[in-house]
Amino acid sequence: MPPAAQPPFAGTGQPAARSRPPVAEPILPGGTLGILGGGQLGGMFAMAARRMGYRVEAISDTADCPAARLCDRLHVGRYDDPRFLATAAHGLDVVTFEFENVPAAAAAALAGAVPVRPEPAVLFTTQDRAREKAFLTRHGFACVPYRVVRSLPELIAAYAELGLPAVLKTAAFGYDGKGQKRLAPGDDPAAAWRELGGDAPDGPREFVLEAWVEFACEISVVAARGLDGTTAVFPPVRNDHVHHILDISSLPSNLPPAVEAEAVDVAERMLTALGVVGVACVEFFVTSDGRVLVNEIAPRTHNSGHLTIQACETSQFEQQVRAICGLPLGSPRPVTPAAMANLLGDCWFDAANCPQEPDWAAALGVPGVTLHLYGKSEPRRARKMGHLTALAPTVAEAVERVTRSRRLVRRE
Ligand code: AMP
Repeated sequence: MPPAAQPPFAGTGQPAARSRPPVAEPILPGGTLGILGGGQLGGMFAMAARRMGYRVEAISDTADCPAARLCDRLHVGRYDDPRFLATAAHGLDVVTFEFENVPAAAAAALAGAVPVRPEPAVLFTTQDRAREKAFLTRHGFACVPYRVVRSLPELIAAYAELGLPAVLKTAAFGYDGKGQKRLAPGDDPAAAWRELGGDAPDGPREFVLEAWVEFACEISVVAARGLDGTTAVFPPVRNDHVHHILDISSLPSNLPPAVEAEAVDVAERMLTALGVVGVACVEFFVTSDGRVLVNEIAPRTHNSGHLTIQACETSQFEQQVRAICGLPLGSPRPVTPAAMANLLGDCWFDAANCPQEPDWAAALGVPGVTLHLYGKSEPRRARKMGHLTALAPTVAEAVERVTRSRRLVRRE
C-alpha cells in the first residue's frame, strides 16, 4: 500500500478533522469496537475485548491478517479510500489503532464518522520521526541529538555536526530496523543515502540522522490514559534487541528506583502532553550515568507489553479497551516476574537454512511458559510470528526459562 502523498493536516500540525468531543457515557460491553490495522496487536486486542463482551471489527488492507480469525468482522480495503472507510465505520462505537503506519488521513476520515482514540493528531505526530522529535524538543523531553535531513549535502553537514557513529532513519514508515542505516567513521554517506532510497524518485523525502547512543540498556513504558485524563502506567520493561528487532523483554527491569521513576514520570507526562486517550508506549535508552532518553513513542499497545497478559493485574490489551471505552483503567501492578521472547520466522529454518517444523511440544515442557502464535501463514526471516512468555520467581529465572524454551522451539 503506498503511503499518502501528502499529510492530511495542511502543514500546521493541526488536524483537518478531529474526533468528536469525548462523550461522558462509557461504551459498555455489547458495544462494537473498531481497530485500524489487522496485525497481531489487533488480534490480541480483539481477544481481550471479546472476552469482555464487546464486538470487534478490524479495518485492514489485507484479508489474510492475524486479526482476521479473532475479530467478529474484518473490513478489507484501501486505507486511502474514503468510501471504504465510511462503510467500515458504520455501526462502530469507537476506533483505535494497532499500528501507526496507516495514513493519518485514514484516521482523520474515520474521525468524521466515529470517535477515534487516540485522536488522529496523535498518530500524525508519532508516525513521523521528524515530527515526533520536534514534539519531544518542544515539550522538553530528553532525546538523542538529531538533525532532520532532506538531501545528501544536508546529511554530510549533519554528521559533521553530530559526529559518527550515527544512524540514518527514514522519517516515516520505518519499523523493526527497516529504513535504518548505521554510519560508522569511514563509511560512505552517499552509499547509506542510496541504500535508504534517498536518491530514488519515489523514495523517502525526509530522514532523521541520530547520534549513536552507547546505552547501558533499553527500557519501555506502556501507559494508558482515560477519557477523564487519569493515567495508569505499567512498570518499565527491559528490552534486548537483535538486529534492531526486539528479542527479549523482561520485568522487573532491575534498574535503580530513581531511573524507573524518571521513566514512569516521563511516560505519564508524555501521554498527557500528547492528549492520548488509549494506550501508548514510550521507548527509552538508559545511559550508564542513569539518564533516560526517549527513543520513540508508539500510540498503541507494544510488543514489549505482551508479558502484561500473564504478569500484570490488567493486560495492555484490556487496558486499551478500558481507556478507549471511557471505563475506569485497570491496575497495571505486576503480580510476578516475567520474560517474553519473540518468535521470528527464523525459527522455521535450521542452521543450514533448511525449512524445519518448530518443536512446540519441547518448548512447552519448560515450566511457566505460554505460547502465542499469531496465525501468520508464511514464516519469513525477521517476521514476528509469535512469542513465548515465561513466569518465574525471579526475573533472571524467567529470562532463562523463556530463552531455553525458544532454543527448544528452534531445535538447538
Ligand atoms: P528504532 O526503530 O528507532 O526504535 O530502532 C530499533 C533499535 O535500534 C533500537 O531499539 C536500538 O536498539 C537501536 N537504535 C536505534 N537508534 C539508535 C541510536 N540512536 N543509538 C543506538 N542504538 C539505536
